[in-house]
Amino acid sequence: MAIAGQIAIEHRLQTIPTTMLAAVYRGKSDVRMETVPVPEIGAGEMLVRVHTCGICGTDLKKIATGSHSTPRIFGHETSGVVAAIGKGVSRFQPGDRVLIFHHIPCRQCYYCRHKTFAQCDTYKKVGCTAGFEPSGGGFAEYVRVMDWIVEKGTVHIPEGVSFEQACFVEPVNTCMKGVDSLRLEPDETVLVIGQGPIGLILSILAKRTGARVITSDLYSQRLTISKSFGLGLTIDASCTDVIERVREMTEGRGADAVILAVGGNGLIRPAMEATRPGGRVLLFAQTVHGEVVVDPAAICVDEKTLLGSYSASVELQEESVRFVMSREMDLERLISHRFPLSRGLEALDLAAHPQPDSMKVVIQPGSAWEGHSK
Ligand SMILES: [Zn+2]
Ligand SMILES: [Zn+2]
Repeated sequence: MAIAGQIAIEHRLQTIPTTMLAAVYRGKSDVRMETVPVPEIGAGEMLVRVHTCGICGTDLKKIATGSHSTPRIFGHETSGVVAAIGKGVSRFQPGDRVLIFHHIPCRQCYYCRHKTFAQCDTYKKVGCTAGFEPSGGGFAEYVRVMDWIVEKGTVHIPEGVSFEQACFVEPVNTCMKGVDSLRLEPDETVLVIGQGPIGLILSILAKRTGARVITSDLYSQRLTISKSFGLGLTIDASCTDVIERVREMTEGRGADAVILAVGGNGLIRPAMEATRPGGRVLLFAQTVHGEVVVDPAAICVDEKTLLGSYSASVELQEESVRFVMSREMDLERLISHRFPLSRGLEALDLAAHPQPDSMKVVIQPGSAWEGHSK
């Protein structure tokens, strides 16, 4: 849709500035804080003032590999306040607290009919932007939300739920989709390798199916957090042989399913070895194309399944919203570091180089708001 300019704005919350701060991706490992125009909106669109935006592993991957054209403004785990609405928008008013999905599938194409939504061409079209090629735009003060996202990909944040809690809807959805793909049964044991924020969410969702969950990480600090979320079966991978320990805990069989929530390919083989014959291994953090050596007989003779899951499922949108907004899991507690937008580069750097005490890192333009709340 053509940008109709500010004329199309029906209502606005306050004086909207003409320029704003944004973290602009300019090339491989090159992000700069810049002043850019506040995006204009057209009919059916909204302008949302970003309060909190989570930093996702996929943002970091795109920045580190330079896989996308420049310039772009990333950030897609966005919650904020509607600042202005375009003509024809009736579901939202300026002042509404909202959570935005950055893309939504068509639900009609071949891929959608076969429920592989992440492969849909409409889904690949990003409907939120802070300028340049639409790429999420959450690492900026304002985002323009395009019409089909206003209609199908924007959710009200209920009273009593913070912007911080709400920004976990997209990551929770991706984790739900991953856990669903394993079809866990209540008497099964699943090992989740990696207890960063995503590994922890995957673990909680796996436990919710009734399965027994074992977690492992190299950082004992992370396992302490896992335990505080009720995940009692932990393995400190810095001093314990995870495969051996998992076999001990499963009468020598190995886990029924293993979820790999750590990037890189070095753990694929150990993950397969920690799985029982006939079990399955879910690659959740292997987002970079490459090659890897696998034992074909582990797949053929031992009948182990190697599967993957990426991105969110529109079919799980309601359930993920319910899970987050009902505060079934206190996701806010996964946030270890909050940075104002002006320190966005530090935030990205920390997220790209996780420390033993760092979990979810968020950029929070809303921290500068007057009388701001979480
Ligand atoms: Zn994400
Ligand atoms: Zn489609």
